[in-house]
Amino acid sequence: MKCTFTIFRFDPSKDEKPYYQKYSVDAEPTDKILDCLNTIRWEQDPTLAYRASCSHGICGSDALVINGSITLACQKLVRDFKTGGNFVIEPLPLFNVLKDLVVDQNPFFEKHRYVRPYLINDEELPEKERIQDPEQQKVIEPALRCILCASCTASCPISRANPEYVGPAALLRAFRYIYDSRDTASGSRLAQLNDENGAWGCQTMWWCSDVCPKGIPVTRCIGQIKRAIKEQEKKT
Ligand code: SF4
Repeated sequence: MKCTFTIFRFDPSKDEKPYYQKYSVDAEPTDKILDCLNTIRWEQDPTLAYRASCSHGICGSDALVINGSITLACQKLVRDFKTGGNFVIEPLPLFNVLKDLVVDQNPFFEKHRYVRPYLINDEELPEKERIQDPEQQKVIEPALRCILCASCTASCPISRANPEYVGPAALLRAFRYIYDSRDTASGSRLAQLNDENGAWGCQTMWWCSDVCPKGIPVTRCIGQIKRAIKEQEKKT
């Protein structure tokens, strides 16, 4: 089928302002949107910039706004959209555009680093690895599915209003360690998130959960952090 792709273009090094460029692509209904972008770049316009890597929903590189919704270009097929073969492709909101569909994700990863995304355990090292049983692992399993695509944070209205808010993806990563049975820093992790730029910034709007391509209940996990903060406060 003939498809029309209307794509956001902007090269800050030479364009005064963004504009949209149309491309025509012969696509199968089962083609991924990423396949169509590749066709445009490889056969029509090598100047078009976008991110992609694994093409199978694992690397999280190709989160975009497709026909108004944030999603992964490699996880959506042409037939998923009932728009008569018309597609509008835009970069993720919230972040500065580096070129076309490529945004600056540094602020996103700075917030990820802020929550200390690694296991902290100051107890004596065991002879082999630190053991975690399946029940303990089940608690953090939703957060383990996160591919850091930034869709949740880009969609979050609080992140848009308050640049200091750590955002849903970083909070989810914090949840992953707060509830990891092997981590011994949950107390300081909860204290770190006990303000309006941390867990209390979340207004429970669920947009993050709605857009997550891995089906992670992000808002629910943030709610668990809030409850844990309250419980910790009761103890002190
Ligand atoms: S929680 Fe979901 S939307 Fe957010 S970064 Fe992880 S995979 Fe992407």
